[in-house]
Amino acid sequence: MSDDNMRENDKPKPSISFIEQFIAEDLKEGNNGRPVHTRFPPEPNGYLHIGHAKAICLSFGMAQKYGGKCNLRFDDTNPVKEEVEYVDAIKDDIHWLGFDWEEREYYASDYFARLFDFAVELIKKNLAYVDDQTAAVISTQKGTPSQPGQESPFRKREVDENLDLFYRMNKGEFDEGSHVLRAKIDMTSPNMHLRDPIIYRIITSSHHRTGSKWMVYPMYDFAHGQSDYFEGITHSLCTLEFEVHRPLYDWFIDQLKTSDYRPRQIEFNRLNLTYTVMSKRKLLDLVREEKVNGWDDPRMPTLCGLRRRGYTPESIKRFIDLIGYTKVEAINDISLLEHTIREDLNIRTPRVFGVLNPLKVIIKNYPEGKVENVELINNPEDETMGKRLVPFCREVYIEHDDFMEVPPHKFFRLAPGTEVRLKGAYIIKCEGFKKNEKTGEIEEVYCTYDPETRSGGNTLDKKVKGTLHWVSAKHAVDAEVRLYDRLFSHEDPSGQKCADFREFLNPESLKTLTGCKVEPSLKSAMPLEKFQFQRLGYFCVDYDSTETNLVFNRTVPLKDTWAKINK
Ligand code: ATP
Ligand code: MG
Repeated sequence: MSDDNMRENDKPKPSISFIEQFIAEDLKEGNNGRPVHTRFPPEPNGYLHIGHAKAICLSFGMAQKYGGKCNLRFDDTNPVKEEVEYVDAIKDDIHWLGFDWEEREYYASDYFARLFDFAVELIKKNLAYVDDQTAAVISTQKGTPSQPGQESPFRKREVDENLDLFYRMNKGEFDEGSHVLRAKIDMTSPNMHLRDPIIYRIITSSHHRTGSKWMVYPMYDFAHGQSDYFEGITHSLCTLEFEVHRPLYDWFIDQLKTSDYRPRQIEFNRLNLTYTVMSKRKLLDLVREEKVNGWDDPRMPTLCGLRRRGYTPESIKRFIDLIGYTKVEAINDISLLEHTIREDLNIRTPRVFGVLNPLKVIIKNYPEGKVENVELINNPEDETMGKRLVPFCREVYIEHDDFMEVPPHKFFRLAPGTEVRLKGAYIIKCEGFKKNEKTGEIEEVYCTYDPETRSGGNTLDKKVKGTLHWVSAKHAVDAEVRLYDRLFSHEDPSGQKCADFREFLNPESLKTLTGCKVEPSLKSAMPLEKFQFQRLGYFCVDYDSTETNLVFNRTVPLKDTWAKINK
């Protein structure tokens, strides 16, 4: 996409989409006597990404809103690229988003026999023929949008010969690529898709559902519209690139239909995100080439990646609502997605203390061996989330950069001679520090505390400007924390015409911190549990986490660039 394209997020959204308006009108006019019936048709050749979520929310959402149904249909017409692993993952992801297809789990491969019979019918009507040329040669004869194509030398083949060849193609008598079946439509049509498109090819690989039953497989375009028709779909909602395929789908249905009914196809714009690639092929390349750690790497825009990163279904749905559905291809700002997850996690996550880069503070006048449990509010946005007790003692960890030996002006954190509050506990004053003379690194900080300043007590008259998070050294639990930045350093890595998207991979997209310290209440945290580490951001427990080595993914830092832009 070019840089001058308007950012989709910048435009105001109508309150109901044009698609919904069409559906409402159709229902008013009777909708052929049918309730709304939509479908989501993934090809099981990869994991779902957030773009698919936009299609899922629309098709399932419209069915829900209008008391209709939405089918899940796997468009499994290419056995070479499709796998059961993908089928299972797709189902998990749709359920995770909160949608259900009930008993309506369908496969285009369920219709292979009907599609084959339909192809035979087309041949008998002299509307399809077997072409002995390769797909590559055929494509050189296609012409251009302004120049008509060239007819195949096999176009005038007799019906009987075509039938014989097509059956033999399916018996395995010919090699892959040696013959194809083409619809006989119009080699001069201004719509390139109508120039005798290939509708069947020979593939000898085994299919994940039908095994080696078939030797010929329908092209996606030959299966898709008819599958909608077989299932009684009333509204077939798909992305804009299919608009030019619609006359072809209509042509097939015209040959097939026996009543007035036909699915209505409505196209909408794809979801594209800045700093992201969204095509399944490119995502598969990233996985295969180990540029990321699998489909569910938290930097991936896949639904399983976003889940692992700490995104909630609600935040994704909210984002999709905000960007809306239009007819204009555009690129959506990833900072809006980050904004919706912050808003959601702000409400739902407990606040906890975690120190990413620990520096030990020793409070010299605090009795050795003494432990106080200080009470902290779990979430100021939600009283019902209650309070918790956090142990405090003589030695605590604070964030390394919360101390400076020579602080700049307006540094309200800890420095020699200054005072700060340890959140929920006491005010401490820095009396000295230990520095490694060789490396210059600060190794320990020495403080005193004022026992009269405990939070929640009655003697809070003393005010300080800085409040720090901390973790008791004795009680802290070790953790590994993975910080993420954008996977690509370019806003539109796929849009750069001559360049390979890999060139824009951000080498700093993953930073792993070990030796982090978190408060003991997190010890039993389970994978996918979410927290706000105070002052640092939102974090989610990773699948790699164990009781002795907790692992957290940072979902997003606290700073919200989107909220700032839109103030
Ligand atoms: P990709 O381009 O990522 O390979 P695809 O379109 O080939 O995706 P399908 O499995 O065929 O993947 O997609 C299933 C449905 O999801 C289609 O109806 C398609 O229109 C829709 N879809 C795919 N990508 C997006 C996107 N970025 N935004 C909105 N809808 C999408
Ligand atoms: Mg597709």
